[in-house]
Order: sequence, then C-alpha cells, then structure tokens
Amino acid sequence: MTEKKVPFTLEQIKEVIKQYPTPFHIYDEKAIRINVRNFLKAFNWASFKEYFAVKATPNPSILKILKEEGCGTDCSSLPELIMSEKVGITGENIMFSSNETPAKEYLKAKELGAIINLDDISHIPFLEKHCGIPEIISFRYNPGPLRKGNPIIGDPVESKYGYTRPQIFEGFKLVRDKGAKRFGLHSFVISNELNRASYVETAYMLFQLAVDLKNEIGIRLEFINLSGGIGIPYSPEQTAVDLFVLSEEVKQGYEQLIVENGLHPLKIFSECGRMITGPYGYLVSTALHKKDIYKQYIGLDANMANLMRPAFYGAYHHITVMGKENAPHDRVYDVVGSLCENNDKFAIDRKLPAIDVGDILVIHDAGAHGFSMGFNYNGKLRSAELLLKEDGSVELIRRAETIEDYFATLDFSKL
Ligand SMILES: *Cc1c(COP(=O)(O)O)cnc(C)c1O
Repeated sequence: MTEKKVPFTLEQIKEVIKQYPTPFHIYDEKAIRINVRNFLKAFNWASFKEYFAVKATPNPSILKILKEEGCGTDCSSLPELIMSEKVGITGENIMFSSNETPAKEYLKAKELGAIINLDDISHIPFLEKHCGIPEIISFRYNPGPLRKGNPIIGDPVESKYGYTRPQIFEGFKLVRDKGAKRFGLHSFVISNELNRASYVETAYMLFQLAVDLKNEIGIRLEFINLSGGIGIPYSPEQTAVDLFVLSEEVKQGYEQLIVENGLHPLKIFSECGRMITGPYGYLVSTALHKKDIYKQYIGLDANMANLMRPAFYGAYHHITVMGKENAPHDRVYDVVGSLCENNDKFAIDRKLPAIDVGDILVIHDAGAHGFSMGFNYNGKLRSAELLLKEDGSVELIRRAETIEDYFATLDFSKL
C-alpha cells in the first residue's frame, strides 16, 4: 500500500495559481533529493552510478538537482546531449544509449566524451566511419528467447533493441581489434516493473555474461549497466520496490558470479528515470465544467497532451481533489480533458468526492514520462513546469508555451 499525499495545501497551491495559472506540472525538490540519496545509499557497497534517463523529465533544473546528488545522464538524442552539456554534465557522466542513431549524434557524444552504448553490431563500422572507435565502449544486449519481458516493454524477441548473444561476443572481439580498451554491457528488458525479481534477474544475466566474456574471449568488462525500468506504485494498492532489499539481492549475484570468478571490481550503473522523479511530480489542473449525461463528467483545463499515460496505456494515476481529501468519496466520475478524442480521460469511473467547478484537481505520479511525452495535437499548448523548492518557495523552471511558440515554425507571410 502507498499513501498518496500532496506536498502542498489548498491555500499554498491557490497562491501559486495566482501567479501561474493551471494547468502546470510541479516537482517536489526535497522529495527527489531524498529519494536519490536513498537509492545511492542502497547501492553504496558497489562502485555505483545512476545515469538519469533524461527522456523521463528533460528539464535542466531537474538535471542540475540530480547532478548535485551525483548522478549522470542517460541520453538518446542530440537535444538531450546538449541539455546535459548545458547543465555541465559531460564526459563519462553521460551514457549515450541511443538507437537508429544519426552520425551527427555519435559525433556530439564523442566530442563530449560520453560513453557510447551501441545498440547494434552494424553500428561498429558506422561509428568507425563517422568518428572512430572510442577507447571506452558499451553494447546493449537483447537476450531474445532467454528472457521474458513485461507487459510495457514486451517480449525481447519482438524488441528492436540490442545485440543477440553471439553478436555480443563477435562485437567485443571486433572493437578490441579496432583499439577499444574499456568495455561495458547494458540490457533493458523490463519497464515500470514493481517485481524486484525481474531487475535482479537482469543483474544475474549480465553478471553471467561478464563471466562468459572473460572465459571465452578474454574480455574483461569495466561496468555493467542495469539500465532503468524500476516501477513506481501508481495505484495506492501497489507498493514501491524496496531498494535496499533489491540492492542486497543484486549484491548476492555480484558475490556469487563476479567476486567468485575474480572479476571484482566491476562498476555497476543504472539508467533509471521513472523511479527517480515519477512520484514527485504532479499535474495541477482546475475543473472547468461538469457534465451530466449517461455518465458524470468532470472536464479539466488539462488534457492528454499534458499527460498521455492514462489515455495511451490505460494507466492509473491517482487524483486528489484539493481541500476535499477527507470528504467521502461517494461520487463516480470520468475525469476528462478537452482533446477531440474520446480516450482523453485521466480517470474512468473513479470514486471521488463531489466536485464543483473551480475545484483544483491534482494528478499524481506525473514526474516522469509526464510533461516529456506531451504534444501539440489539437493546437494544445505545453504547460509550465514549476519547482517546489526545499524552502517551500516555487520557481518557474519552464514557462508555458504561447500561441507564438506554436506558430513559430510557420511563415504566414508566404500565404
Ligand atoms: C526509457 C529508458 C530508460 C529509463 O526507463 P525508466 O522506465 O524511466 O526507468 C533507461 N534506459 C533506456 C535506454 C531507456 O530507453
């Protein structure tokens, strides 16, 4: 079970709304810092580093907070690389885990000194041709039929990512011949997974592969990248992954496979996104309309373009009606946005307190893959992003889009 709380009161958020109209995303700095510290502490037995998956929450103020806590970034596009650079995250503090990558993105990654994590064996000659083989290189492994995925990421056999097992061996021999000296291994086969065992299984799989690479072709890995995919309890019925137990289980695998086989020290990396910021971001909106037809609807000023997970994945996101936290939840509503798409619903048949027009609704767990998945369909503009700072003050960390932004790529003078 997870208690769903909001880090501000009705009065506090009303003050914020006076300055920044709804809808907006707001992130809780203090909670993010505590969470990351906890994560790093859990893995402090290892030479461990978290590369925050920028795609989850691509905002420089968030990246700066994570940098201060000792994280690097996991990037997969040129703008993500440049955002990291602008925040001062460079060199081996960047993991470039891209796929279907254009040459200019590899060039930028190389220029920044990032660790390049190649998605395919055919990218070895591609990389060589465009920027040379770097001294440090990592490969993404797809275990195919050897592993089951999970409902979000799907079956590895159906996944476009990574090298097959034989290609991992062939690839490392190839890059070694071409001068690479430092090697890493990555795999990402689960997503939003609350079952610790799946993540631990990935660790064992990669540790075993590290042993096989040493024994069969004499490649000694410098790091294993367990990637992201740790889930969060979107629903109050779910429970967060216990990071200390998870770490203890990974440690057992490390001792059994890595230490026993003389491969210690081996660095351990992660590329979590969702689990780092997800629970600490909230989409704040106002009820604009109430509609009573075959069902009861609450129409918000936010919509699927601000947070697509409910409409796209049917995902549950908890909703708090501010000031009515303790009122009886004796109404059943569909809480909807304004897109001309009938799936633009934040909640279907949700038990909530009686809602009035003007009430402030807070949608939970929007801190990762929330704002960042936003889009402009139907001429909807992206919202602002705010930071609730440790001292309780609120800072605008991205202004809301304007109609001028929306029109910026058009030239009406040519009509
Ligand atoms: C999306 C992604 C992540 C982060 O996943 P989370 O589910 O947010 O932890 C990490 N690595 C890669 C390569 C990704 O594509």
